[in-house]
Amino acid sequence: MIGQDVKNYFCMLWKKCPVSDSFSGMEIFNQIKQIDGCEYFENIDLTRYTTFKLTSVGNLVEVKTVEALQKLLPLLTERQKKYLVVGWGANQILPAQCEELLIHLDFNFDSTYLESQRDEYILPSSLGINHLTSHAVKFGLKGWEVFTGIPASLGGAIYMNAGTNLGEIGKLIKKVQLVTPKGELREEIIHKESFAYRKNLFVRPGEVIVGATMIHSGVDESIPQKIKDYLEYRKKTQPLATKNCGCVFKNPLKDLPAGKLIDLLQLKGVGIGDLRISPKHGNFMENSGKASWDQFESLVGLINFEMDHFYGIEFELEVKIPYH
Ligand SMILES: Cc1cc2nc3c(=O)[nH]c(=O)nc-3n(C[C@H](O)[C@H](O)[C@H](O)COP(=O)(O)OP(=O)(O)OC[C@H]3O[C@@H](n4cnc5c(N)ncnc54)[C@H](O)[C@@H]3O)c2cc1C
Repeated sequence: MIGQDVKNYFCMLWKKCPVSDSFSGMEIFNQIKQIDGCEYFENIDLTRYTTFKLTSVGNLVEVKTVEALQKLLPLLTERQKKYLVVGWGANQILPAQCEELLIHLDFNFDSTYLESQRDEYILPSSLGINHLTSHAVKFGLKGWEVFTGIPASLGGAIYMNAGTNLGEIGKLIKKVQLVTPKGELREEIIHKESFAYRKNLFVRPGEVIVGATMIHSGVDESIPQKIKDYLEYRKKTQPLATKNCGCVFKNPLKDLPAGKLIDLLQLKGVGIGDLRISPKHGNFMENSGKASWDQFESLVGLINFEMDHFYGIEFELEVKIPYH
């Protein structure tokens, strides 16, 4: 009975996400290879492109410049080839066989730019936000403590409006540059309604964030210590040394953490194969070796079945899966 319900839950998920792909063989890939600044890899192991490291295979293009992306996206759009951007892959799950073309950005960044303090920072989306945290520690930038310890590229953090209980990154973003599926550059001026809890409200389908202008609220000498303390707190409360994807589910309400509910159902430590619910934090899943997409599906289904049965709640996934 439980097995059937779990299956139904996932059938329902997939029905929401029809796959259509009129990809026409090798020709498009040959065209991608000819774009200066694009490096194409076929049928490779994608496992290392996500922090969860579920086994996955597929095609990937590494994009080195904005101009290259401006040529790539129209090509894919014309051919109706589905694509997916992966930053640090800290909030993504890839299926065993990834049907979409993965786009990984690796823009050049001169690290000396962060050697001095500025009022505004113009940054590429592929930059790891750990560099920004180090910069905030060095100069005591007020506001930048909110993303302490979050593994992310700047683009992924903006897309997800990443945050901690100290705040969200959206408050620090002034402008965002994007490339549209037609290859045009678009600038979004950020305002109060640009972000919501763990999501942005301005990236249109198929658009890719390529850069952003970031601000801060001045200098505060207590910031370096605040960041160090928060990193310590994270180490104690989250299984940071394991292969995971951060919080799997969104909190159903602001003051009702998903992890707490999973804990109350005594599901911590429950696992399937190489995958288990973290004994340290109920909203984290840990991959101890070669966990698979199927095992992830089963564990999510099991949790949601129990949640529905005992509390009448169904969790929404925070982690991104293709077509969802
Ligand atoms: C140990 C751990 C702890 C975590 N703790 C937190 C936390 O405290 N708070 C929090 O908010 N999150 C947390 N996360 C989740 C994750 O770090 C964030 O969601 C982060 O913002 C993901 O950034 P990324 O670069 O890895 O994006 P990815 O996971 O690669 O992508 C996430 C989404 O953004 C899209 N995307 C990525 N880059 C771009 C781009 N350039 N243009 C358009 N779309 C793009 C992707 O297509 C995908 O839909 C944690 C994850 C881990 C593994």
